[in-house]
Amino acid sequence: MEKTLAINSGSSSLKWQLYEMPEEKVIAKGIFERIGLERSMSTVKFDGEAHTREIDIIDHRQAVLLLMDELIHFHLIKEFREITGVGHRVVAGGERFKESVLVTQTVLEEIKAISNLAPLHNPANAAGIEAFLKLLPDAVSVAVFDTAFHTTMPQAAYRYPIPNKYYNEFSVRKYGAHGTSHMYVSREAAQYFDKPLESLKLITAHIGNGASISAIDGGKSIDTSMGFTPLGGVMMGTRSGEMDPSVIPFLIENDPELKTAQDVIDLFNHQSGIKGVSEVSSDMRDLEIARDQGDKNAILAYEMFVDRLKKYIAQYFGVLNGADGLIFTAGIGENDRKVREDVVNGLSWFGMEILPERNVRGVVGEISTPTSRVKVLVIPTDEEVIIARDVEKFKKKTAFL
Ligand code: ADP
Repeated sequence: MEKTLAINSGSSSLKWQLYEMPEEKVIAKGIFERIGLERSMSTVKFDGEAHTREIDIIDHRQAVLLLMDELIHFHLIKEFREITGVGHRVVAGGERFKESVLVTQTVLEEIKAISNLAPLHNPANAAGIEAFLKLLPDAVSVAVFDTAFHTTMPQAAYRYPIPNKYYNEFSVRKYGAHGTSHMYVSREAAQYFDKPLESLKLITAHIGNGASISAIDGGKSIDTSMGFTPLGGVMMGTRSGEMDPSVIPFLIENDPELKTAQDVIDLFNHQSGIKGVSEVSSDMRDLEIARDQGDKNAILAYEMFVDRLKKYIAQYFGVLNGADGLIFTAGIGENDRKVREDVVNGLSWFGMEILPERNVRGVVGEISTPTSRVKVLVIPTDEEVIIARDVEKFKKKTAFL
């Protein structure tokens, strides 16, 4: 039986999903959390049960070794070579990677070389890839880039209005992220609409801890809210999203705790967004509890969060010159009825109307009224299946070599 692993390494986590291919059957999935920190944990889920244990995990290489141990321990595989493919989510592919690629040593070096575009993620992605190359040298190893789907953006959208030199010599431009998710939900939306993707204009809202909005015309990304790095765009769990860059030198000059531009960027990446404004948590569920208890900072953080979502979605109605559908996905987009309601009601002028009885927890599919000019859909994202499918494509190609 052919088995494929889809791997998503974060800075301190490694999520995995084991598939039976080509059936796309999920055999098991899991996550290693708090890698490199105290009280690291492994969770393995299969047959409706979750098995969690606390275990020291120093780095991603060790997480990969432990993952293989877990698969054997839980009889999910008998031997390593049953895994014939491993697909890795890589956050930044720069201008070099416009689609998924077979991993070679050169590709691995190139992924490391563009780490400045995703300093939290690319080194972790590369560490995961390297560990698997050593452990499963015969498996087909594929890198799937978060930025690839956005390489169809026109220059007018992806260039920053600064001197050309900085694009030509330093590759400073908008790259976007969450591409696999935006691509997946836009394809799924076309199935719901029962129309060819090529005929649809869609706005996709991936709202999780990280969040980005995309404008998709005929299946191609033509604009997206994240920028040079995933710090751009809407407000997020711990990220500020869009800011006036003059705040950076101002803070360095005025706050003795912030000494370098990197200190400020770290502040914007890790201590800002919902966490920074609410002073409660970066997690939407915690925020909403505090908001409902009347906590002023939590109320403000929630209002700012919805405000930024509305502004970006409204922008993309302009970019697309109208849209057929707005798609909500990821942790908050899929589960948070109130965020969806507040965003859509605040944009009713664009021809969207929510159907309250459909806008409930756990809903999948349309949540707008039959007369709503723009359809509003909730579609659970599945980045892992796209990764597994891309591995499958390369397995077929390499079989002919
Ligand atoms: P990421 O993959 O970027 O870490 P997720 O897509 O898992 O993030 O989304 C995490 C966010 O989703 C958190 O803010 C969490 O509070 C929120 N979330 C998850 N479930 C719910 C829910 N039932 N109601 C509201 N928010 C939720």
